[in-house]
Amino acid sequence: MIYLDNAATTAMSEIAIEEYKKYAQDFFFNPSATYIQSVEISNILNEGREKLKKILGVKKGDIIFTSGATESNNLAIRGSVREGKWEYVFSAGEHPSVYNIAKEMMREGKIVKFVPLLKSGEVDYFSLSKVLNDKTRLVSCMYVNNVTGVINDVNKISKIVREKSPSALLHVDGVQAFCKIPFNLQQTDVDLFSLSAHKFNGPKGVGALYVKNKSGLKNIVFGGGQEYGLRSGTENVPGIMSMVKVAEQVDIKKNYEKVFKLKDCFLQKMKVLPDVKIVGGITSPYILLIIFPGVNGETLVRVIEKDVVVGRGSACSSKKAGNYVLENMGIPINQLKGAIRISFNPNLSESEVKQAAEIIIKGYNALLEKLK
Ligand code: PMP
Repeated sequence: MIYLDNAATTAMSEIAIEEYKKYAQDFFFNPSATYIQSVEISNILNEGREKLKKILGVKKGDIIFTSGATESNNLAIRGSVREGKWEYVFSAGEHPSVYNIAKEMMREGKIVKFVPLLKSGEVDYFSLSKVLNDKTRLVSCMYVNNVTGVINDVNKISKIVREKSPSALLHVDGVQAFCKIPFNLQQTDVDLFSLSAHKFNGPKGVGALYVKNKSGLKNIVFGGGQEYGLRSGTENVPGIMSMVKVAEQVDIKKNYEKVFKLKDCFLQKMKVLPDVKIVGGITSPYILLIIFPGVNGETLVRVIEKDVVVGRGSACSSKKAGNYVLENMGIPINQLKGAIRISFNPNLSESEVKQAAEIIIKGYNALLEKLK
């Protein structure tokens, strides 16, 4: 079986498992206790925070460890909400862990504004600049879209936000970018940045939120006051240390180049199907969304699943009808049905990717034949 749904999740690497085991078995102490063993764990966690900051390219600020990006996004957004007539701005392409918070905030009567997407899938920068004002409290816009792989120009977004709403916080859901796309937040002024370990061969159920200025954030969970009081609950030390280890040893640039080639190999193969449509303008090499006309994407996924595993765009929302990200890009409903998401991993070989493409093409042609 060739696994091409790496945007949904990835297998833990050997190094991740080894590190996990070390902190699950040998160094299992609660970092909040006062004896030396615990103090050491607490120090190691703090070193981990610095390592993640270094990878992000930031000097200032803190890392809050969480149970994954869903929690990081909730903390970033809910923790930024303030009393009064503030406005909250979201891109229309956000992951459900952001989009559904925005919807909930609307139900609560808060002023929520959605910024439309361009046909390329990027957020409409001009519309963004138009909705911002001195009442804007928070702007939330993802880095790489998990459905289409489209890359937003975060630097440009940051400049627009700083110019139009100098007191607003900028939150970036960086899940599909962190450890995948080479970037440096030193040059891009961001207040909050979410990441998740299981998207880059780390464990599930662990992530982090980078916070430039902790005093701008309120806790949403109450308890023992861990993580600077912003995320109570005993830290998942094995998960955190495993995440830090993978992040530390990954060669982002080398992997990017490798995956770029893999995507290209796949696309070369797809040339035999001139009617398939590649979605999105500037995209991450890790994600490819293809529309196969005339078939149901779900049926195609099931036809090939024994040999090749691919996704439908968002594992988190695949059970729901329709797909708002693609709809918000203006893709007609009849085309949406045939969408399939292929997502790569640097551990794949070119021959595996070529073989997978051939299987998908065969499956598609067989389906079309059946439907005649
Ligand atoms: N944001 C994006 C862009 C994602 O792709 C995902 C995972 N599908 C999440 C947030 C949620 O991450 P987690 O699974 O760690 O909660």
